[in-house]
Amino acid sequence: MRHFDAVVIGTGQAGPSLAARFAAAGKTVAIIERHKFGGTCVNTGCIPTKTLVASAYAAHVARRGADYGFVTGDVRVDMKRVKARKDAVSGRSNKGVEEWLRGLKNCTVIQGHARFQSSNTVVVNDEVLQADKIYINVGGRASVPEMPGVHEVPFLNNSSIMDVDFVPEHLVIVGGSYVGLEFGQMYRRFGSEVTIVEMGPRLIGREDEDVSQTVREILEAEGIHVRLNAKCISLAKRDGGVAVHITCEEGPPNVLGTHVLLAVGRVPNTNDLDLERAGLATDQHGYIVVDDQLQTNVPGIWALGDCNGRGAFTHTSYNDYEIVADNLFNAEHRRVSDRIQAYALYTDPPLGRCGMTDAEIRESGRAALVVKYPMIRVSRAFEKGETQGFMKICVDRETKQILGAAILGTGGDEVVHVLLDVMYAKAPYTVVQLAMHIHPTVAEYLPTVLSKLEPFA
Ligand SMILES: Cc1cc2nc3c(=O)[nH]c(=O)nc-3n(C[C@H](O)[C@H](O)[C@H](O)COP(=O)(O)OP(=O)(O)OC[C@H]3O[C@@H](n4cnc5c(N)ncnc54)[C@H](O)[C@@H]3O)c2cc1C
Repeated sequence: MRHFDAVVIGTGQAGPSLAARFAAAGKTVAIIERHKFGGTCVNTGCIPTKTLVASAYAAHVARRGADYGFVTGDVRVDMKRVKARKDAVSGRSNKGVEEWLRGLKNCTVIQGHARFQSSNTVVVNDEVLQADKIYINVGGRASVPEMPGVHEVPFLNNSSIMDVDFVPEHLVIVGGSYVGLEFGQMYRRFGSEVTIVEMGPRLIGREDEDVSQTVREILEAEGIHVRLNAKCISLAKRDGGVAVHITCEEGPPNVLGTHVLLAVGRVPNTNDLDLERAGLATDQHGYIVVDDQLQTNVPGIWALGDCNGRGAFTHTSYNDYEIVADNLFNAEHRRVSDRIQAYALYTDPPLGRCGMTDAEIRESGRAALVVKYPMIRVSRAFEKGETQGFMKICVDRETKQILGAAILGTGGDEVVHVLLDVMYAKAPYTVVQLAMHIHPTVAEYLPTVLSKLEPFA
């Protein structure tokens, strides 16, 4: 049995940085990875998808050449080269994480599947590792919904679609949320016919209705078929593809696609860790229960990233690392509940989000002001020929603090940080109006937008 000051299970977005912090502090640490270094974000999540989104955007702009005054001829996508570019970008990060970890003094890198043996021991490749502290960063995977026929047809998920090096003739995407929409627009731009099938009454159902509606219009304008209220989805093999039975309230009951992508949520990788041997508690969905400082119910064991159910993003996982590391090494008292919700949807135009939605604020009953400003009135958007979307910002009527924002428009994923930083500073929105912004940018419009705040209707 080998003893370490710390053992980290998984090399997602929290584990490697934490291992490096232990190593730098002169502590012995072992980090265990069963598959690809860097986890979801690096190999099958953010990095490859945003690389593919960039290729799709380039094809889209090329097709719009006439709008900008140039001639391209027929734009065809070479998926083998698109995939090769994606593999190169993603592979660079994957390699970078592995080399970084292997180069750390005091850090032992082990490849294999880790399981708990007790509350302070982990087994990997038949070897028992004992540790004073254990950190779980095992992430999650695409869930396979229990819909009729799902096991009788070939389907893609966010991992297997990474191997696709051709343009599917008709891609049917089950799931109209963030992952489904990004792949949907991307493949439409690569040249596929795309149908997005969503069980709920609207796309990205957690967003405000006006956001959902505008995103739908943007996608439909590119020729993507959107089928909502698909209450009873089932799948069946057909010659040359898969039939997706929808029973929508309107429209034909079946969609016949050549390929199906399931994008209906994720489950944590906690079912094969033998958590019960350590006495670790999970909730009914399998997420490891943690407190505000990410400590599990077992002293000496923490859970970080997607597996704790407190976030589902790279930045929330990395923030988990910062919280745990600062509390341990700097004797701070950082808490998960201090962070402000923020994320982006990488459709084109993107949606940058921070804080509460308009609907959440209304539900909370607090007195608030709101403004909605169309991107068509933003000169930077006009210059770029990208005027779809709007900016919506809500502020507290008493404190003047920003409560939430949705920036659906060109640069929205970046612009939203202006508001997010003001929220972290707990400053009133009026500080944004005092700042001199750079012209021409989308952000320069924020003072103007904020001058038009009105009480909730
Ligand atoms: C298609 C897609 C697009 C996304 N886009 C974005 C985006 O644009 N922005 C964003 O912020 N987030 C995005 N995400 C989410 C983001 O990828 C995750 O939130 C992020 O990777 C955090 O993961 P993590 O640190 O919890 O662990 P992960 O990155 O999932 O890594 C966990 C690691 O643990 C390993 N592991 C699991 N079990 C064991 C075991 N028993 N023993 C040893 N090793 C084990 C796994 O092999 C894996 O390498 C996207 C996700 C998907 C699926």
